[in-house]
Amino acid sequence: PATLVWLRRDLRSFDHAALHRALQEGGPVYCAFVFDTPILAGLPREDRRVAFIHATLTELASELEKLGGHLIVRHGDARDVIPALAAELGAATVHANDDYDPQAIARDRAIAAALEQSGRRLCLHKDHVILHKEEVLSQAGKPLTVFTPYKNAWLKKLNLDPSLLAPLHVDPYAARLAPGRSTLPTLAQLGFDDVDLAAIGIEGGMTGGAAAFDAFVPKLAPYGVARDFPAQRGTSQLSLHLRFGTVSIRHVVRTIRDIAAAGHGGDGGAVWLAELIWREFYQQILYHFPHVVRSAFKPVYDRIQWETGAEADAMFAAWCEARTGYPLVDAAMLQLHRTGFMHNRLRMVTASFLVKDLGIDWRRGEAWFALKLNDYELASNNGGWQWAASSGCDAQPFFRIFNPVTQSQKFDAEGTFIKSFLPQLGKLNAKEIHAPWLAPGKAAGYPPPIVQHDVARQRTLERYAVVKA
Ligand code: FAD
Repeated sequence: PATLVWLRRDLRSFDHAALHRALQEGGPVYCAFVFDTPILAGLPREDRRVAFIHATLTELASELEKLGGHLIVRHGDARDVIPALAAELGAATVHANDDYDPQAIARDRAIAAALEQSGRRLCLHKDHVILHKEEVLSQAGKPLTVFTPYKNAWLKKLNLDPSLLAPLHVDPYAARLAPGRSTLPTLAQLGFDDVDLAAIGIEGGMTGGAAAFDAFVPKLAPYGVARDFPAQRGTSQLSLHLRFGTVSIRHVVRTIRDIAAAGHGGDGGAVWLAELIWREFYQQILYHFPHVVRSAFKPVYDRIQWETGAEADAMFAAWCEARTGYPLVDAAMLQLHRTGFMHNRLRMVTASFLVKDLGIDWRRGEAWFALKLNDYELASNNGGWQWAASSGCDAQPFFRIFNPVTQSQKFDAEGTFIKSFLPQLGKLNAKEIHAPWLAPGKAAGYPPPIVQHDVARQRTLERYAVVKA
């Protein structure tokens, strides 16, 4: 009988768990992607992620055709589309890769139940991460909620079983792909605008993923230091490709381990691998503790009284619109707005500023990032925000409050990053750029700071006192 592979966050045609398993079962194997209306609802027409997915599917359809298959693309509610498509194709089994987002889990359960009613089944596979669910637990069999023990257990598991990185091939079985013509609606038909991704330095698809990874490999050795400076291109910018599966996490981890085994990459390889493990750490936190989507990981932090009302709304708007008067924060928010990317150091600085300088609920910042980030990933975004708000597992202690001026002096000493987004501050020298209010007349048109950091800091310590009670 036919099988159907439903692609979601795994938009590639190589080293692919669901596709590999489906092809192993026999053929013909159909591949489909659904522009899922419940997900698309509420996104702006110019959403960059939808344009990225569209460009990626265009390439994927052509790659599948080269392999002898094709890509079916539908637009609708996946809960209706997938069971209907399986019936239409006579597919007994639908294969897909695991998604740990609670809403995706609920959707998959509903689809599995609908398929069962007609004697079909949904088979889910691990693909987005190296280790998942119950594979990394404490000795007592519990999920690990502190990063370092998680990382150590993760590495131990991988060292014991390097086959976890083995590629899940597609090519050898390609003859089992069902031939046909791909169907891909235009962006306009989907209700979205074509976005010039190249203008923001993004190349979609497997080609884009491979190019980003290849460009980063020579930068692995200095990564440990370079990664903290937003004016340098010291990080991989692979997050978007990891999010949509245009690169394979197995291939990525295998490659950097091979580089390390060959004695190259220095400490940078290990530091970078730790970042990939943070990604998996937050995926498994989301899986085991889905309450984090709405509430603090540590419930006592939900007692905090955040600022609300018109003044807080105005502060929030100033943060979103890059009008806080703190150049590093504003330049970062402009980077997000103009490119859909924000450097990790700046995600920490801007998140801390919203929560601990403006006293605004982290969930509001999380939602803004979710709307704007190209690499938006519920698990990592929620983890990052709860880390900044100190309410998360293994978060920074609540009394550690980033100073937006000293962060700026430390990580953008010359103001190079700031000036690239705020040219109106071009006249300020390396001393003045971090706090323009100290150089009156040189920053015409740039707003004064919306809060005084020292005052805000004190208020935050008082606000957070409830967590000690
Ligand atoms: P690199 O430094 O090259 O790291 C390699 C990969 O490791 C990244 O692509 C990413 O997949 C992973 N990674 C790195 N740092 C982290 C981290 N702290 N947590 C989890 N994974 C990490 N990352 C997202 O992918 N999506 C998000 O929505 C997201 N939201 C964030 C929100 C906040 C408030 C914070 C503080 C961090 C957030 N991050 C998020 C994590 C991190 O900032 C980005 O992954 C990183 O900046 C992406 O750039 P890169 O690919 O060049 O990273």
